[in-house]
Amino acid sequence: MSFFEVKNISKTFNKIEVLKNISFDLNENEVLTIIGKSGSGKTTLLRCLNYLEAADNGEVLLENEKIFEGETFKKLKEKEKLKFGSNFGLVFQSFNLFPQYTSFDNIKLPLELLEKRRKKEGLNSILEKPIDETVISLLKKVGLEDKSNSYPYQLSGGESQRVAIARAMALKPKILCFDEPTSALDPSLKYEVYKVIKELKNSSNITMIIVTHDMDFANIVSDKVIFMSDGCIVESGSPEEIFKNPKSDILKQFLENPIE
Ligand code: ADP
Repeated sequence: MSFFEVKNISKTFNKIEVLKNISFDLNENEVLTIIGKSGSGKTTLLRCLNYLEAADNGEVLLENEKIFEGETFKKLKEKEKLKFGSNFGLVFQSFNLFPQYTSFDNIKLPLELLEKRRKKEGLNSILEKPIDETVISLLKKVGLEDKSNSYPYQLSGGESQRVAIARAMALKPKILCFDEPTSALDPSLKYEVYKVIKELKNSSNITMIIVTHDMDFANIVSDKVIFMSDGCIVESGSPEEIFKNPKSDILKQFLENPIE
């Protein structure tokens, strides 16, 4: 039995099926990258896993517990959505930091909000130490303790993305998802985000799912790679299998020009 199991997830927008029976599984602490051309359904899959979009069919199990079922999702109560949804964190391509808050507050405020919502629903606090200490230790983890009082406009793109990663980590997700975490960054700044993701992989008990167009990064960081095309998983396997021994012509063609 795997730590995380996705079974037959489908999603239709305006009668077009953009996810077709997606199934995969992951072990704890594994890093999965999802590659494929634009429009192949990668972001929709991440959004469905993060409860930002409801898949029409299929189910998702985490540690053997069913946390999503297409048919019954709409009937879930707020408390269940909060409980299941907080298993996931999502880091966006464009950071989505609040411009009017410092790095410290960008991490603290969503955490405070989550704590309030959990309290209201009768769920336990996720904090193990006082909130300010928690925020400082997260800033340390991403190497930004000296930028605690900086506003987003005073940060580089790489630093902004590291604050966004710390903010997602603050909510203690079991699965941390990234949607193109480096595609808004200059090549010289990508490295610092890669470094943080690699360090998280080595030091934290966290499973990651990363959508990326950067094949070098996918090759280095992944335990598993999924190649999607037209809403389907065409191939999946180790980086070695996907990058060195692609089987299908469509993957071979994609690897020759993965930018588009
Ligand atoms: P990728 O991340 O691989 O670029 P997406 O998941 O963003 O692919 O998109 C897959 C398909 O779903 C595209 O054809 C896109 O236009 C469509 N799509 C995504 N979100 C919506 C939406 N909210 N409404 C309608 N169509 C959508």
